[in-house]
Amino acid sequence: MRRRLAAGNWKMNGSRAALAEIAALAEAFPAPASEIVLCPPATLLAPAAARAEGTALRLGGQDCHPEPRGAHTGDIAAPMLAEAGAAYVILGHSERRADHGETSAQVRAKAAAAQDAGLTAIVCVGESLAERDAGETLSIVGAQMAESIPEDATAEALVLAYEPVWAIGTGRTATSAQIAEVHDFMRAELTRRFGAGTGDAVRLLYGGSVKGANAAEIFATSNVDGALVGGASLTAADFGPIVAAL
Ligand code: PEP
Repeated sequence: MRRRLAAGNWKMNGSRAALAEIAALAEAFPAPASEIVLCPPATLLAPAAARAEGTALRLGGQDCHPEPRGAHTGDIAAPMLAEAGAAYVILGHSERRADHGETSAQVRAKAAAAQDAGLTAIVCVGESLAERDAGETLSIVGAQMAESIPEDATAEALVLAYEPVWAIGTGRTATSAQIAEVHDFMRAELTRRFGAGTGDAVRLLYGGSVKGANAAEIFATSNVDGALVGGASLTAADFGPIVAAL
């Protein structure tokens, strides 16, 4: 039985004042059946962890470096995220692939580093609109999975997020049929590569303009185990209804 998960990606948003949202969310869901994760900017991770202590909320980073330490100015190592209170880290988000030219090979190295540090990697995959229109969605997602997921991935160390690039921050959500096609494909690919045990246990999130109004329909879709949420995760008022729909 896969435990459902709602992960919020604050991206480059939020200040210490926004930490009040963590307290509000924790208060609204004192003992949730599902897992709730917030990924604030790295500067807020430690104070967010202090705010979340003793609650059901878990925290995550938004990226990590493949090396555990070293001369990499501006980067953050996976063990540093863990020390700051993270249990998760988002990797390979399309904004990082676009803004920083991040490749799937780099994502795979980061995911391995995250696993070594005891973090669960939320690895993002997804096609652009041009790729969807060209009928390449499954081949793109399949290639990103093959190249981004480490060989020794486990269901504890890996969550996979399908995020069609054209649905992120655009208000356009994929249809249930579109989501089901990709999620069923991802489940089959994981099972083929890692066997039935791991293949069945890895959680698959959908991401792309998820909000309270569409969450229930998305969560009722085949092989959807939760959501990776951007804009609607910034306040407890917006994220709460998504968590409640899990
Ligand atoms: C995201 O950034 O992962 C995302 C899905 O953003 P939004 O929910 O704002 O579309």
